[in-house]
Amino acid sequence: MTDMKRVTIFDTTLRDGEQAPGCSMTLEEKIMVAQQLERLGVDVIEAGFPIASPGDFESVREVCKAVRGPVVAGLARCVKADIDRAGEAIAGAARGRIHVFLATSPIHREHKLKMSRGKVLARAVEGVKTALAYTEDVEFSAEDAARTEPDFLSEVVEAVIEAGATTVNVPDTVGYAVPEQYAEMVAALMRDVPNVDKAVISVHCHNDLGMAVANSLAAVRAGARQVECTINGLGERAGNCALEEVVMALRTRADVYGVETGISTAQIMNASRLVSTVTGVRVPPNKAVVGRNAFAHEAGIHQDGILKETTTYEIMRPEDVGLERNKLVMGKHSGRHAFRERLEELGIHLDDERLDRAFAQFKVLADKKKDIYDEDIEALVREEVEAAPETFKLVSFHVTSGVNVTPTATVTVEVAGEGMKTDAAIGDGPIDAVCRAVDRITGIPCQLEDYNIRAITVGKDAMGEVSLEIRSNGRRERGRAAKTDIVEASVVAYVSAVNQLYQWISAGRPKGEKPHGM
Ligand SMILES: [Zn+2]
Repeated sequence: MTDMKRVTIFDTTLRDGEQAPGCSMTLEEKIMVAQQLERLGVDVIEAGFPIASPGDFESVREVCKAVRGPVVAGLARCVKADIDRAGEAIAGAARGRIHVFLATSPIHREHKLKMSRGKVLARAVEGVKTALAYTEDVEFSAEDAARTEPDFLSEVVEAVIEAGATTVNVPDTVGYAVPEQYAEMVAALMRDVPNVDKAVISVHCHNDLGMAVANSLAAVRAGARQVECTINGLGERAGNCALEEVVMALRTRADVYGVETGISTAQIMNASRLVSTVTGVRVPPNKAVVGRNAFAHEAGIHQDGILKETTTYEIMRPEDVGLERNKLVMGKHSGRHAFRERLEELGIHLDDERLDRAFAQFKVLADKKKDIYDEDIEALVREEVEAAPETFKLVSFHVTSGVNVTPTATVTVEVAGEGMKTDAAIGDGPIDAVCRAVDRITGIPCQLEDYNIRAITVGKDAMGEVSLEIRSNGRRERGRAAKTDIVEASVVAYVSAVNQLYQWISAGRPKGEKPHGM
C-alpha cells in the first residue's frame, strides 16, 4: 500500500520542539514556521498537543487553516477527552491526523501508568478506535518503545494496526537506543508483525547520547518509512533527530539508503534561520548542514582543493541546502518594498505596523553599516517578532564609565499611561548601572541571570547582538537586541525582557504545568 522508496518526513518542531524550555512560540510565529515547513515540503506537520492548553488547541486549529499541502497532526494521550479535543482541533484541516500515544515499556507501565500489559494493549486499541471517529489518518505511538520487551511491542503494533492505525511510531523517548539495537527492533517488527504491511512504521529519536540521527537512519535501513524530526534538532532535553541532517544524509548517501524524501532541500537554510529567529535558540557554528561553518573551508590546502574541484572536500553543495555565501542583500538605498520581499523570502511575515518599525530600524542601521546581510535583517526582525507590548519604552540614556570612576547611568523611559520618567543609578559597570536605573523607574527589581554578546557579521561596523535573561519573582524572561553600540543593545534587550515580565505580572502570574507529550 505504500511506496517503499519514499520516507515520510514528519516534522514536530511545533510540538516536541516547542515544548522544550525556552523554545515557546506565539501563534503568529507558529503559523510562519508551518508555512515555511510547507515550502520545505514536509509530509506531516505536528502542530501541537491540543488538550495541553487553549494556546496549543488554537495553534493546531490555525495551522490547519494556514497550510493545505502537508497533513496536520494533533497529539493526544489515549484518553477520550484528549482525542476529542485533537479531533476538534484538526477538523478544518485539508488532511488531518490524530496522533495518539501510550507508554508500553515496563518502567512506564509500572511506575507511571500502573497498568498491566493487558490493560495497556486494550487502552491503545481503544485510543486508535476513538480517534478513527474523527479521521482515517491515525498514528499510534508506543511511548518508550525502545525500552519495551520485543514480544510485547510486536503484540501492541499488531493490535493497533488491526484497530486501524495507519502509522505506528516506535520512539526512543529517552534517547537510550544505539543504532544496531534500534535497527534490530524495527527489523523484528517488520519480520514478526503479520499485518505490518498495512501501516507505516515510524521512528522518533531523542538525542541524549547524540545518536538521534544515527538511530533514525539505522531504522530506515531496517524498514521504517516515517522519520519524526525537528528543524535544528530542537526538542526536549538534548533535542530530537534534526530534519536537515537526516534528510541530507538520505540524499547524499542514497547509494546506501536507496530511499527518497519529498523535501525541497534548497529551503533548509530558510527553515533553520526562521526557527532560530522565532525561538531565539541559536544554531552552533559547527552544527551539521546548517551551522555557519558547515560549508566554510578555512584550511589553505582545502581551499586550494575546492578551487580546483569542489568535490575534493565538499560532499554537499551549499546551494543544495539553500545557502548563498555572504550574500549582500541590502544597502542604504533599498526601499521598503525590497525589504519586505527579502523578509518574505526568509519566511518572515510582519503586519504593516511592525514592518514599518523594522524598516525604520533598518534605515538607521544602513546609515551606520555599509553592507547589510541576511543575518543583520534577521537580528532586526527578531526584536520586532518577539516584542511584548511596550509598557516601558526607552527614550534616552547616558552612561559614564572609565578607570577609577564609579559607573553611573541616567535613563529616561516613557511609561505607558504615566509619561516620561527619568532616574539615575550607579553600578559595577556601565551595563549594570543602566539596568539599575531602569529598575528604579519600572519598580520591578530584576536579576541579570545570563548575558551574551556576539558580532552578527564581520567588520568593525558589525552589529553586536546582546541576548540576556532576567529573573524576578522566580520568573525568567529573555530579551534580545542588535545595535552597532553594545551598551545600547544591552539596555534595549533589558527593557524588552522587563516588558515581557510585566506582561506576566499583569496577567496575574499564571501558574500550572502543561502535560507533556512523548
Ligand atoms: Zn519526543
